[in-house]
Amino acid sequence: MQATEAVKLLVGFGEPLIGRLLTFDALGMRFREVKLRRDPNCPLCGKTPTITDLSIHAEGAGQACAIGDNGQGTSAAAGAPAAKPGS
Ligand SMILES: [Zn+2]
Repeated sequence: MQATEAVKLLVGFGEPLIGRLLTFDALGMRFREVKLRRDPNCPLCGKTPTITDLSIHAEGAGQACAIGDNGQGTSAAAGAPAAKPGS
């Protein structure tokens, strides 16, 4: 279903699952659709976004999301080394 959604968006046909969440209950073999509204306070897509640069993720999610010794996130872009697993 995810692949179908991707193809629909790429070719511009059909009704994409935008603003809706489709859930599947395999045990009951039921689908359910829930409408979702945009959160105006979302830091990424809200009215006043505070996350405006996602370029750090191009260097790998591990570096972007690493937690340093001080409990703060580290940033490869700021020159801080990312924590390595097992070190
Ligand atoms: Zn959002």
